[in-house]
Formats: sequence, structure tokens, C-alpha cells
Amino acid sequence: MFWADKFAKEIIKSGKHKPFWVDDMKTPSGRIHVGSLRGVITHDLIYKALLDAGKKATFSYVIDDHDPMDGLPNYLDEKEYKQYMGKPLNTIPSPESGYKSYGEYFAKDFIEVFNGCGCQPKIIWASKLYQSGKMNQGIKECLDKAEKIRKIYKRVAESEKPKDWYPFQVICEKCGKIGTTKVVGWDGEKVTYQCLPDLVDWVKGCGYEGKISPYDGNGKLPWKVEWAVKWQAIGITIEGAGKDHMSEGGSHDIAAAICKEIINYPVPFAFSHEFLLVGGRKMSSSKGVGSSARDMYNLLPLELIRFLMARPRYNQAINFDPSGNTIPDLFDDYDSYAGSYYKKQRDDFGRIWQLSQIGPIPKIKPFLPRFRDVANYIQLPSVDINKKFEEIKGDKLTKAEKDILKERIKYAKIWLKNYAPGDLVYQITDKIPGQAKKFSKEQKKYLKTIIQLFDRNWKPDDLQQKLYNVAKDLNINPRKAFQAIYLALMGKTHGPKAAWFLLDQDKKFVIKRFSEVAEN
Ligand SMILES: [Zn+2]
Repeated sequence: MFWADKFAKEIIKSGKHKPFWVDDMKTPSGRIHVGSLRGVITHDLIYKALLDAGKKATFSYVIDDHDPMDGLPNYLDEKEYKQYMGKPLNTIPSPESGYKSYGEYFAKDFIEVFNGCGCQPKIIWASKLYQSGKMNQGIKECLDKAEKIRKIYKRVAESEKPKDWYPFQVICEKCGKIGTTKVVGWDGEKVTYQCLPDLVDWVKGCGYEGKISPYDGNGKLPWKVEWAVKWQAIGITIEGAGKDHMSEGGSHDIAAAICKEIINYPVPFAFSHEFLLVGGRKMSSSKGVGSSARDMYNLLPLELIRFLMARPRYNQAINFDPSGNTIPDLFDDYDSYAGSYYKKQRDDFGRIWQLSQIGPIPKIKPFLPRFRDVANYIQLPSVDINKKFEEIKGDKLTKAEKDILKERIKYAKIWLKNYAPGDLVYQITDKIPGQAKKFSKEQKKYLKTIIQLFDRNWKPDDLQQKLYNVAKDLNINPRKAFQAIYLALMGKTHGPKAAWFLLDQDKKFVIKRFSEVAEN
């Protein structure tokens, strides 16, 4: 059974975690890494598995825009942004106009990407959640039981908090920073706080001391405590996280202890998902393709992104290296999983493909032009690509199929430009290359002979052997023979493996070219 369905089954069978409310979250401290997209899609798959099991469920995504800016991304102007260090992300100006804040700007970019990938969670802005007062009850309990929370940190994470530590940070009334303040007292209504110059080493507080209500957005809980209070304030019953948060003594253990011992809220169903790494150095090179979610969005069709995330088990690392044949292989797998879906095989493959779809799924399997072939044919000016695929399909392409082909052409161009191995980037020349006009008698004879092989359907391996045998039979140096093939088509002395290459070309074109060269 597909892992997301297994989760859904387990959740339903437990009789707990009702009403089903799936949640994930992220701090929009800059461009969001593609790894966070795995989090959203993983949660979306579980949410959809619950719906498919006939259950009512909600899916939300918390944008932690109440967090302080604690570092400067290298693509921002340091001079301009340094002054905002320590301030909540929702109070910092956006790098581009049209957005209420820095937090909103980066969050909206990411939301657009995951919406595109078929994930439509209800968006919850942490700043608004605090301002709404929904966190107030939890904040009060945490401040009242500060000593108990210190003991939890000590017991669970071996983290010693000083006796005067409170689980809360206020937004300084004077300088607007949240990352620099320390609460030093709580009288049941207001907290006393100091804005310290040396609380953290990445920004200095202004030295102000004050007294303020901790409610309605005036400050925030430390995130491990906040996580639990958010579960309660929102009503979240299902939330996993990346394995960094799920380690023993880590964030989740603290949050779970807060649930049980401080706020009396059932710990949501949890799981630990693996990371998505971007293996290829190329991904962050000057070619303009980096490792943000947006970069992935520009590199692959959206269904393929879902597929990439859905296919491995949630707890298997994905090391995505877009160079080499990774992308054509991914398309091949995607197409083969589509086959399983339409054959109604009751296996994970079909289910994974189904859950990778974004729009409605056609009743009849559409013809899927092989990505490798698309990448190949768009390099051949002599090939009418629509006609070519109609030939391969053996019928006219439907409107939907033409759209798929158009999409694959778009992504094949991106792949060829940035990631395709050198031997796959080649160009069949429009005219007979100059070197092909200087062929020896033997080379011409060789081409004339192999033309006759094209009246059959070949397996590439067999054809490769045959091409070699023909050279030997004609007493031609096989190296010279193979060079004739590449030179005649591309004006290059070498190319991809000959049989595979030839079988990928338009048959009529190859025959025409070889005859012209041979009779020259
Ligand atoms: Zn201050």
C-alpha cells in the first residue's frame, strides 16, 4: 500500500486525531528551499489520502512571519536590510513593492509554487494568529507554568534554562525588535522585559526596559513551545516535520511534552520525513538555476515535481541531481507509472501516478511522447515534431496530447540547455556536411548497405551488432564505418551509440541522407 494511504489508514484506525486537520509550516526568512516543497507535498498526499478514504479533513499551512529576521540572505542589499535584523518578518519592508512585508513577499512566492503543484492548504499567518488572540490562553498557561517548562527543557533536551527564564519574547516597544528581548517577570497580566545588547550575537538590542501585556500579538513564544500552542489554537491533529525537528530530545519532543504537561492538548499524529537534497553542483551555478522551490518550479512540469516527491517513501532521502539523465529517467518512470494506473493495476505505481496529477485525470490514457525523443527531435530541423509523434502514436494527436507535447518541448529545451550530457546534445545538419563529401568508396558502400537494414524493426542491441558485422563483412575498419554514420548526419566523427541514435531518427530522413552521401 502506498505510504500516504498507509498513514491515512493508521490515523483512521487509531480512532484519535479527530477532526482530521493536517498542517505544515515554514518561516519565510528568504527564498524558500526546494526541500520545504517536499514538506508541503508530503502533507498534501496524506491529506488527499484521507479524503480518498472518504473522510472529511482540513489542510493548513502556517507561515511563521512573526519570527525575527536572524540572518541576511546574500541576494539582499546588506546595507539596506541590516537595520531590520531582529525584527519580526511581518514588520520588515518587502524587497519588492506590492507586498505588505518581507515575510509576505517570500511566503507568497512559495505559496504560488505549491499552489501550482496542486497543494491548496488554508494559509494561516502566524502574526495574525497571535493578533487574533487565539494564542492568548496558551501564552498565559506557558507563562504561569514557566518553571515546569524549564524542567521540561532540562529533562527532554538537557537544556538548562536560568531560573529567571520565561518562555516568551516581546516585541520591543522602542526599537521594534523581537529577537533581542528577554522577559524577566510575569505578574499574571503583564510581562516585564528588557531589550538586551548582548542576548544574541547577530544583533544588538536597544537597552529599553518595559512592561506590557503578552497578548494579541505583542510577542511570541519560543518556537518549540509555540509549536504546541499553535496545534491547540488551530486544532491541528496531524503534523509531521523534517527529521531535524524529530530527533530525540529535539523540537518535537519538547512540543509534545508541552502538550501533555502544560496545555493538555493531544499530541498530533506525527511522522518524520526525510530531506530533499540538491546533488548537482550545477543546480546552484551561474546558469541561473538554483535550489529554491521556485527554481524547481521552472525546471520540471508540476506533475513531475509531485511525482518526484511522492515516489520515494516519505522517510527516504531524495538526492536530486538535475544533470545527466536524471530528468529523462524521471519522465520515463512517470510515463511507466501512468501505464500502471491505466491498466488498473492495484499497485503503488498507479496510485503514485494518480496522486501526482493536478487537474482532472483523463478517462483514457493519453499518448505520452517520450521525453528523450522530444529532446532528440527538437534538435532535428528536418523533423516535424507533431507529425513525428502522430506517426509513433499511429493516430492523430488529441488536443490534450498536443498540450502535453508542447509542455515537454518546453522542458526538453531547458534540459538540453542546462543539464543534458554533451553526447546527447547534437544537431543533425540540414545540408550534407562537407566531410561527408570526401568519403572513401568503402564508407559509401557501407552506408548503402546499411540503408537496407531499415526495412525491419530492430532492437537497439541487435542493430548495433549488425552495424558492426556489416563493416566486418565489407572489410571496412569498423571505426571508419561508424564515423561515416555520424559524419553523414552531423558532420561529427562521433556521437551517441549508433544504433540507438539511428533508431531515434526519422527513418526516411536517414535513408535519404545516406543515399545522397553514398551516390555523391
Ligand atoms: Zn529595543
